[in-house]
Amino acid sequence: MNFSITLPDWAIEENNSLPDLMPNLEDQMEAVIRFSRINFQKDTGGPFAAGVFEKDTGRRVIVGVNRVVPSNNSTAHAEIVTIALAQTILKTFDLGGPDMPHYRLVVNARPCAMCFGSIPWSGVRSLAIAAAGEKVEQITGFDEGPIHPNWQAELEKRGIEVIEDVLSEQACDVFREFAASGSPIYNGRGGDG
Ligand SMILES: [Zn+2]
Repeated sequence: MNFSITLPDWAIEENNSLPDLMPNLEDQMEAVIRFSRINFQKDTGGPFAAGVFEKDTGRRVIVGVNRVVPSNNSTAHAEIVTIALAQTILKTFDLGGPDMPHYRLVVNARPCAMCFGSIPWSGVRSLAIAAAGEKVEQITGFDEGPIHPNWQAELEKRGIEVIEDVLSEQACDVFREFAASGSPIYNGRGGDG
């Protein structure tokens, strides 16, 4: 028995066409937002994407996307997929391991309750997000779950910096397009995002 989650072909091609070094955070977020748009337009997952980059140099490890519906896997949120791919590429279960550069997770929306929990486990030292959780829920109807009310402080307490509101409006444009497209809000009964 096993399960696997893969990136769609277009996302592999898009990764290959990105520069190896993307030192500007807005450039990183712009790429992540582009992936989030293509993902729902091509019907390869929900309108969510994430990237893992070296914090200091901007070296790209991988940009991944939500794969819940095509993978039949409710945990295949963009953050989980991207962290898992980065750990596979870097051959480690801990992105915060000794003698490693610091890594940043860049996401087009605030992580849901599940993905929030995955961040300290991943070893990343920095989280940058675009749209606030309330915005995502308001625009799309996804339920992001009961995230800790002081989630930023909880991450910072664990040595993970939090950067909010990076190209938030551009990210929200994608959510508006998604909402207008009539695409399904999977697991919309209050258990997923
Ligand atoms: Zn999530």
